[in-house]
Amino acid sequence: MEIISLPTIGFASNCFIVHNGKDAFAVDPSISEKKIIKALEERGLTLIGILLTHGHFDHIWRAQELRDETGAKLYVHEFDDEMLTDSSKNAYRTFTGNDFTIEKADVLLRDGDIIALGDEQIKVIHTPGHTRGSVCYDTGDSLITGDTIFAEGFGRYDLYGGDLNALKSSIGKLTEMAKNESRWIFCGHGDSSTLRRATENLKYYF
Ligand SMILES: [Zn+2]
Ligand SMILES: [Zn+2]
Repeated sequence: MEIISLPTIGFASNCFIVHNGKDAFAVDPSISEKKIIKALEERGLTLIGILLTHGHFDHIWRAQELRDETGAKLYVHEFDDEMLTDSSKNAYRTFTGNDFTIEKADVLLRDGDIIALGDEQIKVIHTPGHTRGSVCYDTGDSLITGDTIFAEGFGRYDLYGGDLNALKSSIGKLTEMAKNESRWIFCGHGDSSTLRRATENLKYYF
């Protein structure tokens, strides 16, 4: 499985393509659907689905256009589905005073769900705290962490659905995972890192 980072600008979160052979998922389609489709076409990839790490507007920004253009199904944790259709819950109104919504997801995820990608699997790890339905996607070699943890730091917990205690225990879960393995993390904002380095940085906070 390979992870490609697409360049983003402005408020947009990081956007990734995860592929195995020709089949690909887009993760957090925050940038123009045309750019995502171009990146897929240039590599001869077929989009089989769109994965969201959580329901904040900066991660779902072009999810509707991308699904309309490609027919790909949208996946989100079941607790964050309500954010897609509600500007207050997805934080757009908090930041801009305006409305932004998309349609409900096609596939609702739970902790431990397995998503097939060619002959490999992506595992869903529920890591609430930044939002109720934040997840990390475990691709085997790497972890896509959304806004749960960053190369340095962790996501805010003061927006709708945020919960510091839940975030602490999610970070505890990731810290435990980091003991046994060295893998890359791809974060919702900023640089990539390793899980071990990122969780070691966090021990000064908790
Ligand atoms: Zn974000
Ligand atoms: Zn967020």
